[in-house]
Amino acid sequence: MHQDDCIFCKISKGEIPSTKIYEDEDVLAFRDIHPKAPIHFLIIPKKHIQSLAHAEPEDSALLGKMLSLTRQLAIQEGALNGFRVIINTGSDGGQEVDHLHIHVLGGPQPWNK
Ligand code: 5GP
Ligand code: ZN
Repeated sequence: MHQDDCIFCKISKGEIPSTKIYEDEDVLAFRDIHPKAPIHFLIIPKKHIQSLAHAEPEDSALLGKMLSLTRQLAIQEGALNGFRVIINTGSDGGQEVDHLHIHVLGGPQPWNK
């Protein structure tokens, strides 16, 4: 289920510390270590899925749960004027950590000034 050298699996197992904002049996959400917006957190499945491209049809309920949590946690974190959702996928998609994650970014943005 877990991949030994995966940093997000280690975060999921508590072997690497993180600032968690949500956790249940399937999913974990924690703040990005290098935030690119006033609100920037990641939602990951606890199960190791390499990327969105590696998700299987049987992962559909899990993916739906993660997307539903996206709106719930964005509002909970105070992104009341909207938020951005990014899923970098594969090397051409700019994915650096090979464990599926949803980026959620919000808060006042320079382009809104
Ligand atoms: P990617 O480019 O793969 O979509 O994004 C990976 C994200 O994970 C980056 O925004 C990076 O700042 C974040 N990240 C990488 N390592 C850690 C870590 O150890 N802890 C936390 N909280 N975030 C991390
Ligand atoms: Zn992993």
